[in-house]
Amino acid sequence: MMRENTESWRTISRQFDGISLNMGVALGQAVLHQSTEMALSPSDKKINSDRVEEELNRLDQALEHLNYEIQNLVTNNKTSESSRLQTKIASNKNKNDSAEILEIYLLLAKDPGWKNKLRDKIKSGCDALEAVDQTLNTIRPKLASKESQPHWQERMSDFEDISNRLKRHLITSETQPQQNRKASEPIIIVADRIGPAELLEYDRNSLKGLILVEQSHTSHVAIVARSLDIPVVGGLKNIMSEITPGDSLLVDGNEGRVYVSPATELVEQLDDKLVERKGRPLDQSATPSFELAETLDGVHITLLLNAGLVEDVDHIESAGAEGVGLYRTEIPFMMRPKLPNVAEQTHLYKEILNRAGKYPIVFRTLDVGGDKVLPYLERLKSEMPIVDRRSSRVVFDRPILLRYQLRALIRACAGRELTIMLPMVAEVSEVKATRELVEGEIEREREKGNMVPTQVRLGAMIEVPSLTWQLPQLFSYVNFLSVGSNDLFQFFYAIDREYPRLSDRYDALSLTFLRLLKSIQEQCQVAHVPLSLCGEMAGRPLEALALIGLGFKTLSMSAAAIPHVKKMIRSLTYQQISDYMTNVCGFAQANVRQSLLNFARDHGVCLN
Ligand code: PEP
Ligand code: MG
Repeated sequence: MMRENTESWRTISRQFDGISLNMGVALGQAVLHQSTEMALSPSDKKINSDRVEEELNRLDQALEHLNYEIQNLVTNNKTSESSRLQTKIASNKNKNDSAEILEIYLLLAKDPGWKNKLRDKIKSGCDALEAVDQTLNTIRPKLASKESQPHWQERMSDFEDISNRLKRHLITSETQPQQNRKASEPIIIVADRIGPAELLEYDRNSLKGLILVEQSHTSHVAIVARSLDIPVVGGLKNIMSEITPGDSLLVDGNEGRVYVSPATELVEQLDDKLVERKGRPLDQSATPSFELAETLDGVHITLLLNAGLVEDVDHIESAGAEGVGLYRTEIPFMMRPKLPNVAEQTHLYKEILNRAGKYPIVFRTLDVGGDKVLPYLERLKSEMPIVDRRSSRVVFDRPILLRYQLRALIRACAGRELTIMLPMVAEVSEVKATRELVEGEIEREREKGNMVPTQVRLGAMIEVPSLTWQLPQLFSYVNFLSVGSNDLFQFFYAIDREYPRLSDRYDALSLTFLRLLKSIQEQCQVAHVPLSLCGEMAGRPLEALALIGLGFKTLSMSAAAIPHVKKMIRSLTYQQISDYMTNVCGFAQANVRQSLLNFARDHGVCLN
């Protein structure tokens, strides 16, 4: 909704009211995001002869940017991209000279043979992006036939990396032609559709805020933005046509509001709230981290952290969590130009464990597919992204992905306990198969004389409704379970969590959904199988109140949510909410949101 400000000092700014998807205030220049998916749409792949010249120019420009980028890596080892490449180089025992590898990258990027092949493809009627893919596909089998020689394997992966980098330059030049800006300038992304991997492609130092046309709390992009700790405002239907690239924007995530060309006075007024992400301490005003998550009648609730970025793990203690209940391992995968190999993954998981120190971590295996696209696994893109090839389905189609990940986790946890959680399980047999894979990998490590984890705990996420009918059979294969309420809710109601056009119609506090959760909780309790809930509803005080009343004693959520949920718990009498929820589950009413609000008001429970 657009409002022209009437107060004299505000008249030049325009204000749009949406919905807060993450708190904080940020100022920056507008960058209108165009989905790479759209840029890559099949209709663009074939071009007419009159577009050949244009595509050749686009290719030349992208190659120039690629050369410049790699030249920079050669001369400046201080950038994070360079250090990522350096890590890769350091882990490669065949190469002892990192400069030599970077020089090889440069030679590949400048290779006239490659350039000619790309140009020929464009002249034959492909657009530039398709030319890169087709050229890679013709070169791949040639290098793969020399697979026995590690040298050629390494060249193949370098070449895939270079091709992906070139594609990114082609896409950037196509989608953001007029958005010239200095790399260090603060930017606010304005997007109709944006996936989490696309958001992570933006420079993290420049990225200050996000404005979305859609408004879903449980969308993966909102979850990743929360990890990045940037303010997010959603639900602004016409915002793309109201903003021009380069406009000055102020995003007020606290109020769910966006200002275009904000007046100086307004900026000054919000100055002390402007986000300075790096090193910003978590807001502990709700409950300091040392306070226990204990109800007034002494019931302890275990609060855990949801993490995805390596740095998230640093917040365990400051947020007042007792460990990481969900580490989304796909997020580091999304931030890389290519699939990390076993050595790179082992290095990453070790770093996460080191940062966590004494605190336990639940590593969720790769949950890709759907909106979580890995740019280098485009072949996994699906026609039906939410219900088709996601997570366990992807990894069962390509078991090597899961095997390598398990191998890396086992190596990283040698000599200590390893906790693994499987997403999107639909059948017990999937857990059984994964358990066998884990056992096989452990045996393999033992045979090699390597140390293995002291214990492996395997858990499954309850996200697909079919699993809720198989709990008795599932119990003997798992050490614990965790409800992924974001997915369970969308599959239960057949709505798409990324495009919540029906979100007003269905509510996680509907009795239908709560009864399902109650049945899961009761079955786990009887079978003594530890249960947690790690979807976004755990981090909202009112929803957390309902969950505790249903008997959930372990909740996992974002760092920012923990002090607020803890405050609610510390003002609550467990027995009262437990009796209340037992009672209410028998009611005929559809939804308990309002009656829970009344309960909180009548019993002095703090909800903010
Ligand atoms: C969930 O579905 O509730 C969950 C925690 O997993 P994700 O949000 O990563 O799909
Ligand atoms: Mg999920």
